[in-house]
Amino acid sequence: MRAAVLHEIGQGELEVLDDVEAVGFGPGKVRLRIRATGLCHSDVSAMSGVLPQPAPFIPGHEGAGEVVDVGDGVSGLSAGDRVLVCWLPACGACPSCRRGQSHLCLAGFLNAGTPNFRRPGGDVFGFAGTGTFTEEVVVGAGCAVPIPDDVPFEIAALIGCGVTTGLGAAINTAQVEAGSSVAVIGCGGVGISTIQGARVQGAAQIIAVDPVASRREAALRFGATEAVAPDALTDAKQRITGGEGFDYVFEVVGKSATTRTAYEQTRRGGTLCVVGAGAMDDNFQANMFELFFDEKRILPSLYGGGDVLRSYERAIALWRAGRIDLESMITHRVRLDGVNDALDQMRTGQSLRTCIEL
Ligand SMILES: [Zn+2]
Ligand SMILES: [Zn+2]
Repeated sequence: MRAAVLHEIGQGELEVLDDVEAVGFGPGKVRLRIRATGLCHSDVSAMSGVLPQPAPFIPGHEGAGEVVDVGDGVSGLSAGDRVLVCWLPACGACPSCRRGQSHLCLAGFLNAGTPNFRRPGGDVFGFAGTGTFTEEVVVGAGCAVPIPDDVPFEIAALIGCGVTTGLGAAINTAQVEAGSSVAVIGCGGVGISTIQGARVQGAAQIIAVDPVASRREAALRFGATEAVAPDALTDAKQRITGGEGFDYVFEVVGKSATTRTAYEQTRRGGTLCVVGAGAMDDNFQANMFELFFDEKRILPSLYGGGDVLRSYERAIALWRAGRIDLESMITHRVRLDGVNDALDQMRTGQSLRTCIEL
C-alpha cells in the first residue's frame, strides 16, 4: 500500500512509496483505512529532530477513517465503524486516567517504540505510535475512537489533534474567564483553535500574534479582536491593558524565546499557558525573584489538558452548534502525492491546516 516515509531525521522531504505494509495486527489491535489526515506542526518537528522520534518513520497523527479489522479481545468496535485516531490513548486504569487526566496516560505511548509498518528495506515506525500519512495503519484499540455519522472525516481528523489541543488549552487548562484579555502567540491550526476556545469562554479581547499576514487575517475571522505582528505586541499590551499585561497569554510556538515573550506579556497574577511542543535542549528561564514576586501562573497544556474523550465530545458539540468553525480551518487539500507541497505550505505559514485525502 501507499505511504509517505521519512528515511532519516533531518531530511526535509517525504518519499511516497507503494511497498509499505501495516504490521502488528493481533489481540487488542485494530486495522484502520485512513480517509483524511491533517498535517500538524508536530509532524514537521519530528522530521527535523525537535521532537524525539525513531526513523525511518511515517508522519501523521491527526487522522480519521474506517475500521477494517478488529483483533481478539477488542470490544465496542467493529469493521466499518467510522473513527478518529487518538495518538494518546487512555488505558482507563492508571492513576492519571482515574484522576480524569487521561491526557497524561502513558500506557499507549509505550507502543511508540515498536515499528507498526514494514517495507522490503526493513521496519518503519509510525509517528507517536500511529502514522496516518498512509492508506492503512494498525493501532491499539484505544487509538480508534468512534465518531458520529454527521462528522466528516476531515473534521474528525482535526479534532484528533490540533483542535482538541487548542480548544482544551483555553477551556480545560487556562479556564479563560469571561471578560478577560487574551493574547495568542502563534496562529497556525492550534493557535486558531485556542482563539476559538477563548471566544467560546467569553474573553473580551483576543489579540492574535503572528509574523505572517495571512494568518493574522485568518485569526480575525476566527474570533480574534485584533491581530498584530510580534514587534507590535508590546505596544498592543500598553494600549489594551494599560501596560499591566494580559490576563492570559498562550504560547503556541514551542520555543523558549516566544515563551519568554509570553511570560513578559502576562500580567502579574495572570496565566501563561504553554501549548507549543518544543525541544529537550531549549531551556526556558525565569529568575527566582520574578517567579515568586509576580505570581504569574505557568500552565503547560498537553493535548488539551483534560479527559481526552470528553474533549472530543465537546469539540463535536461546539462544532454542531456553530460555536466553532472547523471547516474554514482547512485552507489546503492535497492527495498523498502532494504531501511535500503540504509541508511547504506549513513551513512558510501559508496554511492553517492542509488536509491530505486518502
Ligand atoms: Zn491510563
Ligand atoms: Zn498534532
